[in-house]
Amino acid sequence: MTRRTTPDTASGLIASLTPEPATGRTIAARRRIVVKVGSSLLVDKASGALNTDWLAALAEDIKVLSRGGREMLVVSSGAIALGRGVLKLQYGHLKLEEAQASAAVGQVALARAWAESLQREGLTAAQILLTLGDTEERRRYLNARATLTSLLRMKAVPVVNENDTVATSEIRYGDNDRLAARVAAMIGADCLVLLSDVDGLYTAPPADNPDARRIDHVSAITPEIEAMAGTAGSDLSRGGMKTKIEAGKIATAAGAAMVIASGHLMHPLAAIDAGEACTWFDPQATPARARKSWIAGHLEPKGSITVDAGAVTALKSGKSLLPAGVTGITGRFARGDAVVIVGADGAEVGRGLSAYDCDEAERIAGRRSDEIEAILGYSGRAAMVHRDDLVMRE
Ligand code: GLU
Repeated sequence: MTRRTTPDTASGLIASLTPEPATGRTIAARRRIVVKVGSSLLVDKASGALNTDWLAALAEDIKVLSRGGREMLVVSSGAIALGRGVLKLQYGHLKLEEAQASAAVGQVALARAWAESLQREGLTAAQILLTLGDTEERRRYLNARATLTSLLRMKAVPVVNENDTVATSEIRYGDNDRLAARVAAMIGADCLVLLSDVDGLYTAPPADNPDARRIDHVSAITPEIEAMAGTAGSDLSRGGMKTKIEAGKIATAAGAAMVIASGHLMHPLAAIDAGEACTWFDPQATPARARKSWIAGHLEPKGSITVDAGAVTALKSGKSLLPAGVTGITGRFARGDAVVIVGADGAEVGRGLSAYDCDEAERIAGRRSDEIEAILGYSGRAAMVHRDDLVMRE
């Protein structure tokens, strides 16, 4: 692997960290940043060993951004690549059970590497292994989202990978580009950085097109942009440019800017902000607006929650809906389903995702949040509909 040495520190990032982030085309201008790291960067193809120096430099970049008030989350590949080395499986296509076994072995090493590298920078790593249902099924989606946002609040750095040991082809993301985009969308990140062995999107796959030009900036992913992506990934990682563009569609629609950049540099995040070659994709909304339009426009409400006048006032002032203000429940809904919130006169006040299923909602309606545990037998969320999951009618 060729590694240039500039920038040799994370200092470029420090310079571009302003107290109030703006929205320029730099990572430091963002608030909540997902960094996806490809297998070919972390694991040396020939030896199967971990590139520890590179990981240390990346961890330093993450530290600088984190100290500057940015919330940092990592999606790291490399479990299968590390594990197959330990198990001495040849390069080339692995059977599903070999990939799963490799992931089981490699994920331990991968998590340890991240924990140690981040710890050296004074940061706490938190391992999260996701399966497809965690971002696609709303009940589990709310759980995964709540855990990730709690970790960010506690200033830990979530290190996410797919739970490859149990994922089969029908129930897997399959590549970490799209997994990272789903995670970015789920937590309302405003930036997704895809670090891999390519330094951006080219007008055609550069391996077979010597005239291909790299594009610096993509304002929207049009069919022409999609057509520029080839199909192939490297044999260590699953994603090629095609999955990166698909990731871009998910992330930018959810309000995150995306950058595709080469990780073949020490301090790859500092390098992007220092102006190294990369491709930036503009977000198509803000994360908050994208989430609200998803809740208001794309979900079929499964029931309704009637609330009293005090709750309507509280909701209008931006508060969450607490069980105390709920006077009635109709319809059959599960936790995470969309519900309509109506006032005493039956008029719609807003829509949101319910933190309880309809039976539980019925039982805690009208009660104080500190009574929830005694009523349900477990301590659930204080709000029936959290304000982040709520859209008020204009
Ligand atoms: N989850 C896989 C791993 O950790 C990588 C998937 C990908 O390369 O996109 O090995």
